[in-house]
Amino acid sequence: MAMKKRKNTVKNSKRRTVKKAKKTKKTAVKKEKKIIIDTNKLLRLEEARKYVIDVAGEKGLEVFEFLIAKGEMEENLLAKKLKFEKANAIRKFLYRLYNKNLVSYRKIRKNNKAWYTYFWSANPEKLVFIIREMYEEEIKQTKKSMELNKAEDFYVCDICNRRYDINEALQNDFRCKNDGGVLTHIESGKVLEDKQSRIDFLNKKLNELKQLVK
Ligand SMILES: [Zn+2]
Repeated sequence: MAMKKRKNTVKNSKRRTVKKAKKTKKTAVKKEKKIIIDTNKLLRLEEARKYVIDVAGEKGLEVFEFLIAKGEMEENLLAKKLKFEKANAIRKFLYRLYNKNLVSYRKIRKNNKAWYTYFWSANPEKLVFIIREMYEEEIKQTKKSMELNKAEDFYVCDICNRRYDINEALQNDFRCKNDGGVLTHIESGKVLEDKQSRIDFLNKKLNELKQLVK
């Protein structure tokens, strides 16, 4: 429906198209925030934990999990609860998480004081999105390499290792043109089978991920 709307706007004026496009984007972001995630299950997913640890370390995962459990929290209180010596020490982890959009903050100036108070919250839906993209990308790459493998179904000479495609091998009665060596069929079937089961596995994972989102 959004597409239809945008098309109509193109007819009217270009400037309005830009405005509309921006508006659509904003709405999409808002919608994303309303998503409810089964965070208990999410945090039990090995890939999800591994991703957060890669981004912000074990301590970063601890911060992320704590924010998910407790909801938005003021920075100093968060540091205290997680037994960081100073609020500064926790910032390193918060910023790493923030760089990947896994957390966000609000800053508030209280009673006209010179400094801001920061309130942090976790974005578990972003983690779901990232993991989903990882799975989808691997599926795409695996499918691509399966296509290549199909094309590479070949025969090879026992002696000189020269490669032949099926037609060439047939023409030469499965003997090498150079040295008469026997041409052996290289099984790409097994490779393809393995790749297919990886795709099946990833699709299963994707389904599990979808079930986390309500
Ligand atoms: Zn040969």
